[in-house]
Amino acid sequence: MKNKITRFLAYNKKVSVICIDSTALVEEIRKIHDLTPTTTAVLGRVATVCTLMSFTDLKDLTDNLTVQIKGNGPIGTIIAICELENIKKAEIKICADNPHIELPLKPSGKIDVSGAVGESGFLNIIRENELTKGKYNGVSPIVSGEIAEDFTEYFAKSKQQPTVLALGVLVDRNGVKKAGGYIISLMPDAKTQEIEKIENAINNCKPISELLNQGLSLEEIAKQVTGDENIEIIEEDLDVCYKCNCNKDKIERGIISLGKEEIQKIIDEDEKIEAICHFCHKKYVLNKEELEILKKKSK
Ligand SMILES: [Zn+2]
Repeated sequence: MKNKITRFLAYNKKVSVICIDSTALVEEIRKIHDLTPTTTAVLGRVATVCTLMSFTDLKDLTDNLTVQIKGNGPIGTIIAICELENIKKAEIKICADNPHIELPLKPSGKIDVSGAVGESGFLNIIRENELTKGKYNGVSPIVSGEIAEDFTEYFAKSKQQPTVLALGVLVDRNGVKKAGGYIISLMPDAKTQEIEKIENAINNCKPISELLNQGLSLEEIAKQVTGDENIEIIEEDLDVCYKCNCNKDKIERGIISLGKEEIQKIIDEDEKIEAICHFCHKKYVLNKEELEILKKKSK
């Protein structure tokens, strides 16, 4: 199974669309974190929109994007970090405080994403450049906890162009059946006529996860959601992978930042420290001698 990401132009280049089938990515995330159906839907939606944003918001290979979602729901804080390996391939890692919570389905039969995320709190979106250290930091309120609406609110405030975002994850006890999403952005020369056609098309469309489950290609989906039969494919060889770049050096820097006193406490109490990476669950063990060295480097 492979992820698919395609960029399109619709209505004579007045509308741009990026569409993703993220089924493989979301299934991988489910396995890495041993997620429940509820948390698969939550992290799947977040990972899908963050992947799309890697291709729309990151301008440079040295840019990275960090998204924190701090809602008042039981899943706790969600963190996703993305960068570009090359201009056609995004890398993502994601984690949540409580990845094993499970909630009953809503009366509509849908997974209770907003119940897990919480209906109040905020999104924190940070775009950083490793070389220039340039930083953009945007904070936006959670409006529903359903993820797509929350990011749409953020896009509305931060982008100049009107944007439509849809996200969907179809999951059962056996795993992810389909996951995907799309962003439709209107160029400045898009007119009311195009906007109305798109609104109509979206209102008559099934959720993206169901369209994928029916076997529709990204091109067929882009035609359906824009209502334009003459869409143009711009790029169709984009890709994403899950990648954690943790290493002992980073873990050691984290321990140094605890301070001399705190490190001494760990030495006195346990003589060693076990640190587990939240993104990939790799375990790092540092013994007493190593901790003594880090203590000397610490303040
Ligand atoms: Zn890791």
